Amino acid sequence: MFLRQQVQERQVVVDHNLCFFCGACVAICPPDSIFLDNTHLSIDDKTCTRCERCVRMCPVHALSMEP
Ligand code: SF4
Ligand code: SF4
Repeated sequence: MFLRQQVQERQVVVDHNLCFFCGACVAICPPDSIFLDNTHLSIDDKTCTRCERCVRMCPVHALSMEP
């Protein structure tokens, strides 16, 4: 239970200097927690399961999982 709480406290962080809005992370996210328009990418922490698929998918490493 304690471990689960620790996992949930981590969150995906976007480096807006690196993201070029390719949409790859949006397509790979199982619960559709990533939202993208032409100028901004955001992540819904309430539905994100912390699976890290988006972190591994991003071609320019713009996403990271941080405490
Ligand atoms: S960690 Fe998983 S659930 Fe969360 S935004 Fe990335 S792909 Fe979606
Ligand atoms: S995969 Fe990376 S570069 Fe592409 S939209 Fe997502 S965060 Fe941006």
